[in-house]
Amino acid sequence: MKNTLYLLLLLTLGCQTKTETKPTFGIVIHGGAGTILKENMTAEKEAAYRQVLSEAIQVGYEILKEGGSSQDAVEKTIHVMENSPLFNAGKGAVLTADATIELDASFMDGATLDAGAISGVRTVKHPISAAIKVMEASPHVMLSGAGADSFAKEQDLEIVEPEYFFTERRINSLKRVQEANAQKKLSLSEIDKAFLQQQRYGTVGCVALDLSGNLAAGTSTGGMTNKKWNRIGDAPIIGAGTYANNATCAISATGWGEFFIRSVVAHDISALMEYKGMSIEAAAKEVIHNKVAKLGGDGGVVGIDRHGNPMMEMNTAGMYRAHMDAEGNLAVKIYREE
Ligand code: ASP
Repeated sequence: MKNTLYLLLLLTLGCQTKTETKPTFGIVIHGGAGTILKENMTAEKEAAYRQVLSEAIQVGYEILKEGGSSQDAVEKTIHVMENSPLFNAGKGAVLTADATIELDASFMDGATLDAGAISGVRTVKHPISAAIKVMEASPHVMLSGAGADSFAKEQDLEIVEPEYFFTERRINSLKRVQEANAQKKLSLSEIDKAFLQQQRYGTVGCVALDLSGNLAAGTSTGGMTNKKWNRIGDAPIIGAGTYANNATCAISATGWGEFFIRSVVAHDISALMEYKGMSIEAAAKEVIHNKVAKLGGDGGVVGIDRHGNPMMEMNTAGMYRAHMDAEGNLAVKIYREE
């Protein structure tokens, strides 16, 4: 009996050493998915996108390399993209039908399954930080509108005038969309389709695995051009646009929000991994190309699993995206076939 127990102990130890992996880390980001075609791009524009994506991911990479947390890496990386007018998040966000700006963001901590989100804020310079504050300093998961703005102010987050977010480019695209809709005299649902397909990209997101094995995910967006009625997309919805769980993966999504909410995209990828044992890549392919696409939606996701395997999947022509592994290898991509 004693011998059998000893043998069992040896076998267990042997198995453990085999499955133990060296601590590693990694980071993946996106800057929105959509009809991003090379023929519509100038060399300068392309270089500018690649530049900001590289700068942003480098910030998170350095934090992770020094042993910092995935939460810190996600927050600081997203700040760089929220500061850039190129992306539909923070400065440079798209305009609503009333020519205002309403920002959404969410964050999830894979270690504790704690989460925070804000929607429709108008004065918070870094919506991702407000989402994190909701998680850390309130008993709630999601705050919206003027209340979310006041909460951010009470928490001493940086507050700006709404004008700070406006850019010439987004003012012009709202004008173009509204003029086109007026000329075509389309029904409301047709208008939505037309503008949604052309005018929706630039949401930002980041997922990271740190050296302690903790995963985190964050997403930040201005939503969709010409949105009405305080419309809220998937980005601030935990499980749809953002999800993280140390048992599986961290996910941030970008795409046609209504379809991503209905498909519960981010959590679905995690659930396929948890309950079906699928790899992050297979799970993302299933959700993006089967589930979302079959409903008629489009977009993409980035993710990282608990071993550091990156994933970047889309059913659109392109998605601004980048990945950096623990060795510092950097991949920055825009078009689907890259
Ligand atoms: N998912 C965002 C939304 O529906 C938009 C996007 O990611 O492009 O608000």
